[in-house]
Amino acid sequence: MSVFTVLNPATEEPVTTVDQVSLEQTDEAIARAAAAWPAWREVAPGDRARLLRAFAASVDSHLEELAGLEVAGSGHPVGAARWEAGQVRDVLLYYSAAPERLIGQQIPVPGGLNVTFHEPLGVVGLIVPWNFPMPILSWGMAPALAAGNTVVAKPAEATPLTAMRIGELALEAGLPEGVFQVLPGKGSVVGQRLVDHPAVRKIVFTGSTEVGRSIMAACAQQVKRVTLELGGKSANIIFADCDLERAAATAPYAVFDNAGQDCCSRSRILVQRSVVDRFMALFEPAVRGMAVGDPASAATEMGPLISAAHRDHVASFVPSGAPVAFRGHAPSGKGFWYPPTVLAPVRPDDPAYTEEVFGPVVTVTPFSDEAEAVAVANDTPYGLSGSIWTSDVGRAIRVARAVETGNLSVNSHSSVRYWTPFGGFKQSGLGRELGPDAPDAFTETKNVFISTE
Ligand code: NDP
Repeated sequence: MSVFTVLNPATEEPVTTVDQVSLEQTDEAIARAAAAWPAWREVAPGDRARLLRAFAASVDSHLEELAGLEVAGSGHPVGAARWEAGQVRDVLLYYSAAPERLIGQQIPVPGGLNVTFHEPLGVVGLIVPWNFPMPILSWGMAPALAAGNTVVAKPAEATPLTAMRIGELALEAGLPEGVFQVLPGKGSVVGQRLVDHPAVRKIVFTGSTEVGRSIMAACAQQVKRVTLELGGKSANIIFADCDLERAAATAPYAVFDNAGQDCCSRSRILVQRSVVDRFMALFEPAVRGMAVGDPASAATEMGPLISAAHRDHVASFVPSGAPVAFRGHAPSGKGFWYPPTVLAPVRPDDPAYTEEVFGPVVTVTPFSDEAEAVAVANDTPYGLSGSIWTSDVGRAIRVARAVETGNLSVNSHSSVRYWTPFGGFKQSGLGRELGPDAPDAFTETKNVFISTE
């Protein structure tokens, strides 16, 4: 059996070791999930709702433990980690209302009527990345369970600890054996098997566009349902007529939250030319003032990157001679630290401007007018997120409609809420998670004609 050593990204010290699930064990888990499904789909809606609420309560009573695991195993600042554990509870509670609302339609037709049912799919495979181990797990797990499916989840190899604990909490809360299982292991083994196994009826994948593309191709072999949440290169568009102080004060959090390891990171700041100098003067102290350091400290705003290899990857976007306008600070010594870094002016073919960095590196680019801002924002294969800063309501709506992304905020740096739909345009993904309709994506609509003749 292979074993993975989880490292603390802030200290490089081992946290614990985790046994990796093998191909055979993956098959056994899928068989357990398939065997548990007929009984789970028959659990009365009110009872399924009660079990999900018990699961949420169990998560709630272990928030500090879960947050501590994420601090140690992923390097997330403790304030963020507490919020992430709370998100698991809240998402479970939100979707605990769904089992009793999975209602169909009745459609009068000549000679009778048709009724529709939302039928659960069966076993759902959930593949989770390392950047937000808890929230992204919950976004797939909660609506899938609520809709009457059983779930087999694979956390990222590097960050399995919170998902494994959440799997135990599900059992402690009373979910039957086999209904929700967590399999720590490699994507090439466990993840690939979930994709290829015919008993797995849907894959929910969050991760890189490259792996997402190969998963979509593999799912096509079995016409398997798939939701993809992939990369981003989102724009933070700042017009001259906005509250520039607020835009500059929040811009660091729009891109450096989670050390920039965020698919929604606004890693391209576009600023109207007439206010670029003033924006940069306001932005610089905001970047330098970010509290980067010990994730266990409540005052910390940004922690380390996930691994040495990822730090090398991020650093490759800032070679010597790169146009560094200014930087924040980062601890020296042990830990996978990288300082918040602002690049300007950047050439349009600079990889830092065109590619997803997934680290604390942002570019600043001027634009002349609304049409140019939209064109520049859309000049990317991605389309996940973005922000628009303006005091002109008409412009805010015009630009929001014109920018080809799934999730935008106006005069705010954040746009993800679990009760609103989330997902990407273009190569940022396929399908939507979250929001009131999410359980429907874990069902098939069945249409039944009933003769009255
Ligand atoms: P990867 O695509 O490398 O990995 C994501 C998950 O897929 C991991 O659990 C990984 O396992 C698994 N995996 C890898 N190869 C396969 C395979 N062949 N078959 C099945 N599963 C596989 O992405 P990262 O972990 O590097 O995550 C970062 C990326 O995720 C970024 O591009 C980011 O933009 C994107 N992301 C998108 C979000 C969104 O909602 N749109 C949210 C968060 C991140 P293993 O752990 O072994 O590598």
